[in-house]
Amino acid sequence: MSNGNPSLRDKTLAILKPDCVRKNLIGKVIAHIQETGFKINAMKMVKLTPDAAKGFYEVHSERPFFNDLIAYMTSGPCVPIALEKENAVEEFRKLIGATEPQKAAEGTIRKLYADSIQENIVHGSDSDENAAKEISHFFPRKELLEINGF
Ligand code: GDP
Repeated sequence: MSNGNPSLRDKTLAILKPDCVRKNLIGKVIAHIQETGFKINAMKMVKLTPDAAKGFYEVHSERPFFNDLIAYMTSGPCVPIALEKENAVEEFRKLIGATEPQKAAEGTIRKLYADSIQENIVHGSDSDENAAKEISHFFPRKELLEINGF
C-alpha cells in the first residue's frame, strides 16, 4: 500500500454478524476495527436470504453445523464491510481471534464480545483469494471507495 495503490494483500471482508447487530455492538466493533488502522472501503446493512448464506458458506455445506449456521446468519441483519490495511487478511484474523471465543486471545473482538463458537460476532476472510471473492459477493467494484484516494 506504500505507493497508495492497494494490492490484493491489502483487502479483506468483515461481516458484523446478526448477534453483533442484535446486541447493539456495531459501533463498538467498528471503533475497534478503525483503531487498529483498517480503512473502510465499503459498508452496508443487509439481511441474507438462505440462498445467499448457503452460497457464502458453501465450503461448510457438509459440516454438521451447516443448517444451524445458515439459520443464525439469516436470523437478522448483518453488516458486511470491505476493509483495507497492509496484510489485511492476516491482520484482521489476529484482531478477531479464534473461532471459539473461549480460545480467542485476550483483547480480540471475539474474546471481548462473542458468546459461542457459532454466535461469534464477526466474520473475517481466511485468504487473499477468498477475500476478493467475498468482497465481490457484497460489493460491485464501483461501491469500493479507497479512502486514501480521497
Ligand atoms: P471462522 O473462519 O473463524 O469464522 O471459522 P470457520 O470458517 O471454521 O466457520 C465459519 C463459521 O461457522 C464460524 O465463524 C461460526 O459462526 C460457525 N462455526 C464454526 N465451527 C462451528 C461449530 O463447531 N459449531 C457451530 N454451531 N458453528 C460453528
